[in-house]
Amino acid sequence: MDCIFCKIVEGTVPSNKVYEDEKIVAFKDINPEAPVHIVIIPKEHIESVKELDDNNAQIVSHIILAAKKIAKDLGISESGFRIVNNCGKDGGQTVPHLHFHLLGGRDMQWPPG
Ligand code: AMP
Ligand code: ZN
Repeated sequence: MDCIFCKIVEGTVPSNKVYEDEKIVAFKDINPEAPVHIVIIPKEHIESVKELDDNNAQIVSHIILAAKKIAKDLGISESGFRIVNNCGKDGGQTVPHLHFHLLGGRDMQWPPG
């Protein structure tokens, strides 16, 4: 499958990993929008939130708990952070492999625009 994030999981595309376990990988975003910008993905290829159901949605809580740990490890837990999922065209999803952005290290502003 021609999926850049699957290739990061396989190791055939390099990434700057900050966390990995048996289910997920987290790496630095190549085009950071904040001083800390991490992309967290399931190792399994799931295209988007639209492909989640009762059989696979537990990966989301696993990712959120990892994001909490990564935020602490990277020193943005106290100051605060944002977790973002983009879904589909209008949601701004550019990579069709489910992922969550962990952003922090500056005032992220709300609404995001
Ligand atoms: P989205 O727009 O929500 O689909 O987010 C995809 C994110 O993946 C963007 O923020 C990209 O900068 C990031 N990205 C794409 N390719 C890579 C890569 N090879 N390594 C790290 N981040 C990437
Ligand atoms: Zn994939």
